[in-house]
Amino acid sequence: MIPAEIIEKKRDGIELTPKEIDWFIHNVISEEIDDCQISALLMSIYFNGMTNIETKSLVNSMVKSGKRFNFKHLGKYVADKHSTGGIGDKISFVLTPLLSSFGIIVPMIAGRGLAFTGGTIDKLESIKNFQTQKDFNSFNKQIDLVGCGIISQSSEICPADKKLYSIRDLTGTIPSFPLICSSIMSKKLAEGLDGLVLDVKVGNGAFMKNLREAKSLGIELKKIGDSLDIDVSITYSNMSEPLGKYAGLKCEITEAVDCLKGTGPDDVTQLSIDLCANILVQSGISANKSEAKTSLLKNIENGKALEKFEEMVVAQNGDLNDIYSKNNFARNHLKIKSKETGYIKSINTEKIGWALVEIGCGKKVISDTLDYSAGIKTNYKVGDKIYKGDIVYELFGFNERKLKIAKKMLTKTFVISDQEQEQKKLIIE
Ligand code: URA
Repeated sequence: MIPAEIIEKKRDGIELTPKEIDWFIHNVISEEIDDCQISALLMSIYFNGMTNIETKSLVNSMVKSGKRFNFKHLGKYVADKHSTGGIGDKISFVLTPLLSSFGIIVPMIAGRGLAFTGGTIDKLESIKNFQTQKDFNSFNKQIDLVGCGIISQSSEICPADKKLYSIRDLTGTIPSFPLICSSIMSKKLAEGLDGLVLDVKVGNGAFMKNLREAKSLGIELKKIGDSLDIDVSITYSNMSEPLGKYAGLKCEITEAVDCLKGTGPDDVTQLSIDLCANILVQSGISANKSEAKTSLLKNIENGKALEKFEEMVVAQNGDLNDIYSKNNFARNHLKIKSKETGYIKSINTEKIGWALVEIGCGKKVISDTLDYSAGIKTNYKVGDKIYKGDIVYELFGFNERKLKIAKKMLTKTFVISDQEQEQKKLIIE
């Protein structure tokens, strides 16, 4: 087969055969196909979409590209969560150890930042020495011993997603249903799951800007899960404001640890508990969601969830002292104050995401380096009362010049009204 012919077919809106898709993915992995050809196919898929048969073939070929875990020998429920991406989304760091504290196996495979959304793997790597790349056998051992872990795609584990993900991040080809579905579901299928909870983000800081689009994506994701015998439950959650107070890299780990201690922001705790409750009910550990929520809160109060988190960090070589050290503060800080008194009507969350990329929490080009100390603290949510002179955002990081650029980007990202405004519903459906 000839790569250019496959690209031309997709460019012209003609359905690709499973063989062509499989051949292309196989050659992406063996590095026979050039990055410019991969980008061209991704852009053609972005514009022309894929049929159900093509999407399913793409998922299958991407799963086949790497090894698949099988934890059946442990005789326990194997489950995970995946979010479609947002700002300040640190749920994975709370949910993974919390579910594991009930004996549920959570072998999470996650990704880096995508466009304006933050990456689980980038955030974990802000912990000194934390190993996100583990080979297949050593991750298997970790799961046998600890019961949970979070790793990145690698040359052995979801290599096709690793490659396509990094190119999509830089080429404006992320908000495409077949590309999102195949990226998420290929990772989840490789984990050998019984159950999955999907957190489909909706709003101006998500790839799906409204509930209609989010539901179409949710339905596609569920269809794939159902056809592969994974019990999928879907939550549609608000992403029209950052989740929690902090968005960035190390600061999100700190905020997640606060949630595990029971002192974190309400929205992060509530969403984590809700998503975990779906899994506890799916697995049969709890009879219903309200019973599940009571048990989950108990495992936060009694310290079991935090203990599991620490066990996971140590198993992945991470330095616990670094998490609890007070020496992680960024070198430079800038503040943005409100020029008016009133109620917060809206927050341009995507812009906050791009400001985070600017200060080093994501990459604009492959050679960019991340600044683990960087982040933005958002002091107000939609509906909150704010007074002239109050600090809306605090920006922090290593590079003062970049912080100044980000400050400019953020000046018009919130609208203040003199009318009272309704707070956003965290869990939309
Ligand atoms: N998360 C993923 O893993 N992939 C996507 O394409 C979007 C969110």
